[in-house]
Amino acid sequence: MSRTVMVMDTVATIECYGDNAKEACDKAISEIQRIELLFSPWIETSEIYKINKTAHLSPVKTDPEVFKVLERCIEVSEITGGAFDITLKPLKDVWNMKSESPKVPSKEEIDEALSICGYENLVLKDGCVSFKKEGMALDLGGAVKGYAADRAAEVIKKAGVKNALIDIGGNVYALGESPKKREWKIGLQHPAKDRGEYFETIELSDKTCVTSGSYERYFEQDGKVYHHIMDPKTGYSADSGLVSVSVVGKSSFEADMASTAAFVMGQEKFLEVKDDFDIETFIAVDKTNNWKRY
Ligand code: AMP
Ligand code: MG
Repeated sequence: MSRTVMVMDTVATIECYGDNAKEACDKAISEIQRIELLFSPWIETSEIYKINKTAHLSPVKTDPEVFKVLERCIEVSEITGGAFDITLKPLKDVWNMKSESPKVPSKEEIDEALSICGYENLVLKDGCVSFKKEGMALDLGGAVKGYAADRAAEVIKKAGVKNALIDIGGNVYALGESPKKREWKIGLQHPAKDRGEYFETIELSDKTCVTSGSYERYFEQDGKVYHHIMDPKTGYSADSGLVSVSVVGKSSFEADMASTAAFVMGQEKFLEVKDDFDIETFIAVDKTNNWKRY
């Protein structure tokens, strides 16, 4: 049984095998949609929307599940020295990568946006969220697809299905074994080649693999490439020398944050903090498309 839906601004595909596969698929899709309704910064009833609207005025009582996710995101900001930061929405908005003809914002626009970014201006206390500055806003685009993949995997297991594949915009969770009766084989997209051309395959069973790549969403101006993963220190696209990072582990939420952070930090700096994440290995691809597993 397989289902594909548009969710979280990307494509999600769930495949389930064996008894109860249809029910498991449907429940997993509903679970991903439920998470989108909690975390989307665009859906007016979401927790994140409510926070973004009023957390500068007074503390916003927040759904406990969302609060827990935010707490871990802030820990990860601290661990990574701010390379991973969920408060970059004002910056993301001035870059407006999703527009039909994106262009590089002025230095003033970037500096103005940066002045209202920064996880240290986000206060989490007693289940409430508040902002120290007006104009602040959260964007969990670097973490929530992974979180959703974990929750979908839980729902599928609960429905009694052992073999399944979850793919939420490149956040893959592989349960049990593939129809070929062996570990799932996942191809890692070659950054410079056509979609579906892999530079390496990895085998997964009850594990996740999450990739952050600058080739996913970008535009070019004056011969320079600008992509969607931001360096909070500069306000420009991260430029650590990597073009892709894939992270393998048991938690897709952790792997998602780790892939974004590693992309921003580069492999050497990330290696210093790797053990503070619940992840196993990562594969980094540099600008010359050389790759290494750590
Ligand atoms: P990913 O594809 O998981 O690496 O996430 C990229 C998305 O995360 C972007 O589209 C932004 O929504 C958000 N993002 C960009 N830069 C950062 C960053 N430095 N820290 C956290 N999230 C980020
Ligand atoms: Mg990520």
